[in-house]
Amino acid sequence: MSTTDSPTPPSTDFVRELVRQDNSQGTFGGRVQTRFPPEPNGYLHIGHAKAICIDFGLANEFAGRCNLRLDDTNPETENEEFVSGIIADLTWLGFPPPEPILYASDYFEQIYQWAEHLIERGLAYVDDQDGETISAQRGGYGKPGIESPFRNRTPEENLDLFRRMRAGEFADGSRVLRAKIDMQDENMQLRDPVMYRIRRQHHFRTGDQWSIYPTYDWAHGQSDAIEGVTHSLCTLEFDSHRPLYDWYLEQLPLPSDKPRQTEFARLELTYTVTSKRKLAALVAQGTVDGWDDPRLPTLRGLRRRGYPAASIREFCNYIGVSRTNSRHDIELLESFVRTELNRTALRRMAVLRPIRLVISNWPTDADGNPVVELCEVVNNPENPDEGTRMVPFSGVLYLESEDFSADPPPQFFRLAPGREVRLRAAYFVKCESYTTDADGNVTEVQCTYDPETRGGNAPDGRKVKTTLHWVSAAHAIEATVALYDRLFTTKVPGDTTGDPFDELNPNSLELLSNCKVEASLADTPLGSVVQFERLGYFAHDPRTPMLFHRTVGLRDEWANIQKRSK
Ligand code: ATP
Ligand code: MG
Repeated sequence: MSTTDSPTPPSTDFVRELVRQDNSQGTFGGRVQTRFPPEPNGYLHIGHAKAICIDFGLANEFAGRCNLRLDDTNPETENEEFVSGIIADLTWLGFPPPEPILYASDYFEQIYQWAEHLIERGLAYVDDQDGETISAQRGGYGKPGIESPFRNRTPEENLDLFRRMRAGEFADGSRVLRAKIDMQDENMQLRDPVMYRIRRQHHFRTGDQWSIYPTYDWAHGQSDAIEGVTHSLCTLEFDSHRPLYDWYLEQLPLPSDKPRQTEFARLELTYTVTSKRKLAALVAQGTVDGWDDPRLPTLRGLRRRGYPAASIREFCNYIGVSRTNSRHDIELLESFVRTELNRTALRRMAVLRPIRLVISNWPTDADGNPVVELCEVVNNPENPDEGTRMVPFSGVLYLESEDFSADPPPQFFRLAPGREVRLRAAYFVKCESYTTDADGNVTEVQCTYDPETRGGNAPDGRKVKTTLHWVSAAHAIEATVALYDRLFTTKVPGDTTGDPFDELNPNSLELLSNCKVEASLADTPLGSVVQFERLGYFAHDPRTPMLFHRTVGLRDEWANIQKRSK
């Protein structure tokens, strides 16, 4: 192949190829309409983000439309709180859903009428057997299905029973409506699937209007058709449902072109569960502190943790739309977060586990008080436009306790007795002595400073191995910092023991309540992210001032994983 000067083609994948093909052949009249159809029974998670980027991304790219449709066909676990949460999270992620917001429940009447249409044509029947019997009769691969004794009821009898089901005459679970397809089809989905169940359950939108509710399969394609969806994209587990999706639509007098279902791989991450049921259980058990706990892969958890929406979108674009299920390393997502924050986050100094550092030769003023100097510190070396700030420096400082060792091991280059280090943007200091408590813990380090090294450079050109961060004790303010580890101890939670909850990490949260930080951090807007120098990125909690969550560390662990796998 010869090289050309043409620009690299825009990224593509099988879904985009399909849409292009449809457009070039005039299928759907060149229209592209997708939908994002969450069930309002929980909050959105990182897996949904992939679906969102595909559904909304595709519509944007092809000048089409993507609606938010709440798939509210199962009233038991759904509510208004989740609806507004979903809208808020979509908006935060960068895809504010267009008005009007759509609901499957708005189509209940039409879908019901279509069920009568199938009954009238002899394509659906009321079955009086219980759920267990019906599923036993479904058979399995290589195991024939058994026809229900109620399969051959007349359309008249079925219509009468079905209307009485709707009217609430029968007990919950006593009857179902089933499609009459083929009890011997190789695809189990086509063995007379259930269309309606009796459930006298209050629905958060339709109230007590309905005592029967449609199944996912019976409602989904029909909702797509009512809205004029062209490309109905869903995850791979619905692959075997596609013939049923098509069968239903083929039997109905549709208002527009028949939508087409296409499946893509679910997003899974290492050390993470992305099932709403499991996430809901973690919240209900109190393992985590609500749906926005920063350890959860929910969009609101990631947001509170400090993940920029842009980094989640970038990650989703990078992994693309594949057709095979795979689990991505969580470090890859974190590297997108780090790259974005490195560009945007302001640098600040914070000491998480403080010890005192006293400069014995620090000058005092005429009143005998220690002099306070202001050091000019760069706000973001990646972005000169962010400028500098003045940070007070004086004779008593806080230092990270792990930055001092009374008895340094061979590779320890930080502060130790007799050793000189640089304090960021301030001075060289040399450790002369230290104090311990009764248990031998270091409580204070005594140093001398070299007044010639102001700004952090020695005029005689002498070097130090390390630069440490610090906070002036008299000017520091207190903060609480939450450090996080993985919520699960295994890459594939549940893989070892069969139950992900057996593989929970008991040490996923460490709360440090005694941190000493630069006073300017009080002005950091709630919800925004800064870099604590040398420590990582930290997000100011959206509600609680001076509570910071560790977003990600500074080290690019993804690069290490890649190096190892080469
Ligand atoms: P869960 O198993 O977590 O309950 P779900 O598929 O039942 O997920 P829905 O609210 O029905 O959750 O999902 C809405 C849309 O998001 C669907 O189109 C679904 O296919 C997609 N989706 C859900 N989880 C993922 C995931 N992990 N990766 C990609 N898409 C997903
Ligand atoms: Mg679902």
